[in-house]
Amino acid sequence: MSSSSNINESSTEQNSATVLDGKALAKQIEQSLSQRVAAIKNKTGRTPSLATILVGADPASATYVRMKGNACTRVGMDSIKVEMASETTTEQLKAKIDELNSNPDVHGILLQHPVPSHIDERACFEQIDLAKDVDGVTCLGFGRMSMGETAFGSCTPQGIMHLLEHYGIELSGKQAVVVGRSPILGKPMAMMLLNANCTVTICHSKTEDLQAHIERADIVVGAVGVPELIKADWIKQGAVVVDAGFHPTDNGGVGDIELTGIESIASAYTPVPGGVGPMTINTLIRQTVEAAEKAAGL
Ligand code: NAP
Repeated sequence: MSSSSNINESSTEQNSATVLDGKALAKQIEQSLSQRVAAIKNKTGRTPSLATILVGADPASATYVRMKGNACTRVGMDSIKVEMASETTTEQLKAKIDELNSNPDVHGILLQHPVPSHIDERACFEQIDLAKDVDGVTCLGFGRMSMGETAFGSCTPQGIMHLLEHYGIELSGKQAVVVGRSPILGKPMAMMLLNANCTVTICHSKTEDLQAHIERADIVVGAVGVPELIKADWIKQGAVVVDAGFHPTDNGGVGDIELTGIESIASAYTPVPGGVGPMTINTLIRQTVEAAEKAAGL
């Protein structure tokens, strides 16, 4: 972790936690991605491309897909936007994914979650070719990542791992508590922290006495989807706090963890917004560039 540069700083400053600034890190990584994209174009004459699939008209999903397309543009990549009607069937969606799997101009495929409830989302995720699973949503990708084999990790937890690594957060031997066990976030997060030698506890909606688990955590990851469910006064002094949640409010937004006053409790924390969110999109773009490099033999 970055240390204080002046040992005579006031006690307030000494108690101040490191802000794990995902927005700044994502911007920095984008610069190197632009160079890698240019190198792929030079070698192959092809522009790396991410296909995004949006099914239905959910406004939040449409915004996320637009943000991902904008990030592609910023690093010089193409994005192919596939928009499908809400009535799309599982078979139609799988056929579209097959088409993108066999298109050599597509290097990565993102199926925006969630799809309408009549569609078998898991079956559609599984249809994505492993080499193009840059969002890390397939069972095979998850299994390979868990076993420490080469695979694209699920973007939000993979982005969190990058952020922790960038700030030099010590993980080995630490007690990590992940609150949430979803396939795209909590479960892969727990496996990544386990692979980094944390001792991991996974909490969920049936967990008894959540507070007691949080109180002994060196690293807390909030991935619940409930505004400020995890209270600031449950956090152990000096813990590292990672908040994946974002819930818009009149004053901007809050996460899954109560962050008011966290500067004087945590040793490091992700701000909301500007922490985990930018790293998720950045990881998607980075993994698409990696897929394009592999396809180009770079
Ligand atoms: P999800 O699929 O709804 O899963 C939520 C998880 O939280 C479930 O495992 C659930 O337990 C658990 N949970 C719910 N209420 C709980 C409670 N009272 N106590 C303990 N555990 C509880 O959500 P998700 O997709 O993983 O997303 C989680 C959060 O991350 C949301 O705030 C979402 O907006 C955010 N997110 C952010 C990004 C990003 O890019 N920043 C990306 C994805 C998600 P059960 O399994 O028992 O139901």
